[in-house]
Parts: sequence; structure tokens; C-alpha cells
Amino acid sequence: MKLKICHLYPDVLNLYGDGGNIRCLTQRLRWRGMEAELVKLPIGSGESLAGADLIFIGGGQDFEQQVLLGDLHRGRDKELCAAIEDGVTVLAICGGYQMLGAYYETHDGQRCDFIGALDLYTVGAKKRMIGNYMFRCADALGGMTVVGFENHSGRTMLGSGAEPLGKVLAGFGNNGSDGTEGAHYKNVFGTYSHGPMLPKNPDFADLLLRTALERRFGRAELEPLDDALERMAHDEMCARLEREKT
Ligand code: GLN
Repeated sequence: MKLKICHLYPDVLNLYGDGGNIRCLTQRLRWRGMEAELVKLPIGSGESLAGADLIFIGGGQDFEQQVLLGDLHRGRDKELCAAIEDGVTVLAICGGYQMLGAYYETHDGQRCDFIGALDLYTVGAKKRMIGNYMFRCADALGGMTVVGFENHSGRTMLGSGAEPLGKVLAGFGNNGSDGTEGAHYKNVFGTYSHGPMLPKNPDFADLLLRTALERRFGRAELEPLDDALERMAHDEMCARLEREKT
């Protein structure tokens, strides 16, 4: 069994080692005797998203988000919306997550019109939201706790068409005020959790793989892996964030 993973805009949206998530997904497939085919789609790429099982979009600064707008609106926007409606699994982080919404208005008033695939918009503020954080995924997604690192100026507000990915347990999440983190729509998982978030959140990594495998093959047999080290990293960060609360 093989999954086709497309890395969209690896040239501009790939902060803090976000791309490490692809290595994690690929390795977790390999450990189970499956494979991943990786296709990179930088700005200007003529390659299509056709046949993608999983699309990964990392984060970027306001500048990079503006740089990619021309390319995005030359057809990538429609292609991405179609893939999302078709149920392709998407992991989108921070700037990549914001890009799936209607728009991002930077703190100094510059507006980036994005693709509107998800019912949300983002407005920047001068004070950035930075730090390690954690959230609990919605029950329908397994209710696992996810630990991560966030660094954003944008405050994201969800409309009625997008469910939050989870609830903030420590840190800021979508906007620092309504307690929501990320968004979930069809098979899209949008989050502010930067860097290689999947290695230290193995249950969340497997949720993505299961979603993509079930759509492609109608079933997903994910035999358990020895995740002792991964869980130790996860639990240590949960404990640290709990300690910092008091
Ligand atoms: N530019 C966006 C913000 O600051 C995204 C930042 C990021 O991806 N880290 O809100």
C-alpha cells in the first residue's frame, strides 16, 4: 500500500522544521510495511495535486504568505478547494492553515485574500502569541491531547461551517480568547502547532494516516508501534505545561 503525499509550497511555507512532519508520516508507514511517494510543489510548479492522498502545508511569515499569492490564484486555489471537497486529507500549519480560510489581514492592514475552503478568517495584531502549548482534540477525532509550539500574530475566527480541531488546555490557540484551537472540516486538519509536531503526537499522526488510508483503500490497519520515546516526549511537555500553569 502506498500513499501519495504532496508538500505544497515547501520553498516558502516551511518554518521551524515543519517538513519533519512528512518524514514522520513516511516513517510510520514504512514501519508498517507501507510506502509514501512524496511530491513537492513549490511556487511555479506545473505538477498537479491529482491523486494526492495527503497534502501538507507548513507555516510562513506574513512576507512569504504575500509572496505566494500570485501563484495561489493562478489555479492552485481552485485545485486545492476541489481536493478538500473530494475528501483528501490535509494537514495545514499556521500560515498554511490561515491560507485555507477566506483572508488574512496583517497587523499593519495588508490584506491577503486566500482560498476560502474553510469557513474562517484571520486578523493580525501587534502582540504575537508565542510559546509551547497544548490542546485536546474533539471527541469525534479521538480526544487525544496534542502538544506543540505556536508563534503567530494572526487571530483566527471560525465561522459556523468549520469545527474547532480542539480546545486549548494551555497557551493561545486560534485567537487567545475563545478557547478554540485549529479547525476541522471534512478531512482537513488545520492547526497552529509548528515544527515537527507529529513525532511527539503519535496518536494524531496515526489519525491522519488512518483518514488517508481509509479514503484510498476503504480500510486502514495500523498495527501498534513502539511509541515509548514519543509518548515520553509528549507526556513530559504536558507535565511541564501543567506545572507552568500553577
Ligand atoms: N504570518 C502569520 C502570523 O503571524 C503566520 C505565522 C506562522 O506561520 N508562524 O499569524
